[in-house]
Amino acid sequence: MLTGFRYRLAPTGEQAGLCQVYGDICRAVWNTGLHQRREAVRRWQRGQDLPYCGYHLQARQLAEAKTEEEWLKTAPSHILQQTLRDLDRACRDHGTFNVCWRAKGRWKPSFRFPAGARVIVQRLGRKWGRLKLPKLGWVRFRWSRAPKGTVRSATVSRDGAHWYVSLLCEDGQTTPQAHERPDSAVGIDRGVVVAVATSDGDLFNRTFQTPKEHERERRLRRRLSRQHKGSANRARTKAALSKLTGRVRARRADFAAQTARVLCAKNAVVVLEKLHTTNMTRSAKGTVDAPGTHVRQKAGLNRAILARGWHGFKLACQNAARRTATRIVEVNPAYTSQTCHPCGHVAPENRESQSVFRCVVCGYRAHADVNAARNTLVRGWTSPSG
Ligand SMILES: [Zn+2]
Repeated sequence: MLTGFRYRLAPTGEQAGLCQVYGDICRAVWNTGLHQRREAVRRWQRGQDLPYCGYHLQARQLAEAKTEEEWLKTAPSHILQQTLRDLDRACRDHGTFNVCWRAKGRWKPSFRFPAGARVIVQRLGRKWGRLKLPKLGWVRFRWSRAPKGTVRSATVSRDGAHWYVSLLCEDGQTTPQAHERPDSAVGIDRGVVVAVATSDGDLFNRTFQTPKEHERERRLRRRLSRQHKGSANRARTKAALSKLTGRVRARRADFAAQTARVLCAKNAVVVLEKLHTTNMTRSAKGTVDAPGTHVRQKAGLNRAILARGWHGFKLACQNAARRTATRIVEVNPAYTSQTCHPCGHVAPENRESQSVFRCVVCGYRAHADVNAARNTLVRGWTSPSG
């Protein structure tokens, strides 16, 4: 089974500089490759006969370009080939014209060393380790846990102000044949009040951003909007902002992984709502002809939804499920929050408040998210006892 182990690197100034240069070269290779592919498609549409512009042609052209262009030689060939492979994959999966350019301001530098066997990992002390990467040499990193298995590839990336390495390791384990508790199942409601509510009545929640951090983010964003593009002050604000959001993102990922692990260990089936977050979080402003209604409320809800990282939670569940043979089921979430679980009465009035559910017919009272989670469970799973 492949598992990722991520560590924070402590590169020397020189190494950090090289990482940035490699990232920039990969970005240039990606953008040039994408431009080539788009041109090829356009010419093909015009009926011109051309060799197919795929990975092998581009890799050959890259090798040729490397003999002439001095700046391309700086980066290890492997990581550039991996960039072209990623581009090839992205174009085939999403279509050449749907693949995005890697803009300097938006794209986070990242590159991958495919030869895992050549990556050597050593522990230096209680808190530090080092790994040897092609061309970069020995790079120190925070030894937060030991990597298990054999390294397949190493990806170096920058998030905010820090550089990280992700080691993809094969640990030799396989997904078990069946779950330890075959008859267990749980429904999940990913709510606004609490991050995750289960049909068992458990509420999982954590503060991802403290009020102080929230206030600081607001202030930084306002400052950013007033600063001139390309100015040094703007760059400083951006760095501070990404440090802040990076911290929140890390907490969210940690919460998702831990909650998913607990849920998958206990249950053979996990039923999630299928949420179209892109639809739900689409700009509430509407169009010129039809301005949106409840713009303020929706903006608040959007923030709340995004802040709780629904998509990340689903991925975390799928990841944890590989180790426990848990089945992840997704169901249509329509009216789960308005339906009374015991009697089935559907009405918006059932929702007494954001957190309290009270049925107007039978008087059933429960935590609103737990009630929704129970409805979700019923939709995705039929209990063996009936
Ligand atoms: Zn009822």
